[in-house]
Amino acid sequence: MAAIEMLKGMISDAGSIVAFTGAGISTESGIPDFRSPGGIWTRMKPIQFGDFLASAEQRRESWRRKFASEDTMRSATPNAGHRALARLHEQGKLLALITQNIDGLHQASGVPDDAIIELHGNGTYASCLQCAKRYELEWVRGIFAQDERLPVCQSCGGIIKTATISFGQAMPEAAMERAHAATSRADLFIVLGSSLVVYPAAGFPILAKRSGANLVIVNREPTDMDEIADLVINAEIGATMSRAVGVN
Ligand code: NAD
Repeated sequence: MAAIEMLKGMISDAGSIVAFTGAGISTESGIPDFRSPGGIWTRMKPIQFGDFLASAEQRRESWRRKFASEDTMRSATPNAGHRALARLHEQGKLLALITQNIDGLHQASGVPDDAIIELHGNGTYASCLQCAKRYELEWVRGIFAQDERLPVCQSCGGIIKTATISFGQAMPEAAMERAHAATSRADLFIVLGSSLVVYPAAGFPILAKRSGANLVIVNREPTDMDEIADLVINAEIGATMSRAVGVN
């Protein structure tokens, strides 16, 4: 396919690549995305951060959902798309990997923490909203298994939540600053598996373009940003990226 050859050429010419991933890069690992047909949002409404804080029932519902999806999340392993990005990192070409995902699969593929910028936090553990103390999900599960008791911070009594950023919750400042700096320095910015509708995250491809980078979008479906992209590939990420980077 000519478009993949074009992407291959852009990757080989680039010095500083920033990858920007969304839920679509993990569907080939068995984790459903939000907005595809049959995706999570077609089945249930997200719980807003304000409602989580205000209502014990909403907190219980949020833990019910978490533990219902936890086995899928825990058994998922990185796929060809994750591995292609890990290879770009090994080659020294990946300046940063900005992700909206919370599944930890980029880390599992071998990309070091310092190259990964998690805009929406991490769903593989929990933390106290007041003092930030970390808690493992197994510990929360043990408490919740007793008549859906809600976990409370052992140090400060604060509310415990998965370490993710919910709708309505403030974005993590340090991650936003790092993402901004990396995007401004990129000469190639590749979007992989994002519908590009969740802001402020979706502002980064626009910033990349304004800062002079080539913008590539790899996504099954068209996005609203296709018109500003230099190359759009509407295909599966795993097959596309393994051919473009030359890995399996
Ligand atoms: P989204 O669900 O809005 O969009 C995913 C996009 O990926 C869709 O346009 C879909 O067509 C495309 N896609 C799906 N599988 C693909 C594949 N194999 N190849 C190519 N394209 C594919 O996801 P989003 O833009 O990331 O925004 C939703 C929010 O959901 C994010 O903020 C993220 O935090 C969260 N989320 C994360 C996970 C995860 O961590 N794996 C899963 C679900 C949702």
